[in-house]
Amino acid sequence: MKLILLGPPGAGKGTQAANLINSLNIPHISTGDIFRANIKNETELGKEVKSYLDEGRLVPDELTTRVVWDRLDQEDCKDGFLLDGFPRTIPQAEALKQGLVERGLKLDRVINVDVEKDVLVKRLAGRRVCKNCGATYHVAGKPTKVEGICDVCNSEVIQRDDDKEETVLNRIEVYENQTKPLIDYYTEEGLILTVDGTKPIDELSGEILDALK
Ligand code: AMP
Repeated sequence: MKLILLGPPGAGKGTQAANLINSLNIPHISTGDIFRANIKNETELGKEVKSYLDEGRLVPDELTTRVVWDRLDQEDCKDGFLLDGFPRTIPQAEALKQGLVERGLKLDRVINVDVEKDVLVKRLAGRRVCKNCGATYHVAGKPTKVEGICDVCNSEVIQRDDDKEETVLNRIEVYENQTKPLIDYYTEEGLILTVDGTKPIDELSGEILDALK
C-alpha cells in the first residue's frame, strides 16, 4: 500500500499514522519528524531547515523532495509506505508523481483528514509531545497521567515551538494557501478518501482501514 495522509496541521495525522502503520505494516514517513530529528541532532540538514520550522514556513520544495526520495528509496519502503506531511504543495505532488512513474510505482490512496479551522487552533495549542519518544498528548483531551511526564518513557513532555499560537495560525494559513489545493489535485486523480477528523481516534482508524480493504 502506498498511501498519503493529507490534512491541516492538528488534524491528527500523526496519531492516525501510528494506528494505521500498525495494522498495515508499512513504514511511516513524516517529513516533519525527519526535519525535527535532524534539528535535534544538529545535522547540516537540521541547520538548513531550522528557521523554516521555527516560523511555521514550508521548507523549499526541492530540498524537501530530495529528503523524501532518500527515504522512499530505502529497502523497507519497497512494498509500501505511509507519507505524512508530504506532499504539501502542488510542485511537491508533481515531483512525487514523476519519481513514482520513473520507478514504475503508483499511489493507492490519499487519505484527506478533514477538520475545521477553529478546532485545529484549540487542538494544536493544547498539544504536548514527549521530548524523548515523540508520544503526543493534549492538555484537555489526552493528558499525561503525571503532569509533564511521558506515560510511555517517563521523559519530559513539552510544547513544540511551532505549536505556540502565533506559529499555529501561520501554519494553518500556509496549509490553506499551499496544501489545500492538493485535495482537488488528488480528487482529479481519483485517489481521495475524505474522512472526518473530529471522530474518535480508533473509530476513525477503523473507518479508514475498512475503506482501504
Ligand atoms: P509537521 O510536523 O508535518 O506539522 O511539519 C512541521 C514543519 O516541518 C512544517 O511547518 C514545515 O516547516 C516543515 N515541513 C514538514 N513537511 C514539509 C513539506 N512537505 N514541505 C515543506 N515543509 C515541510
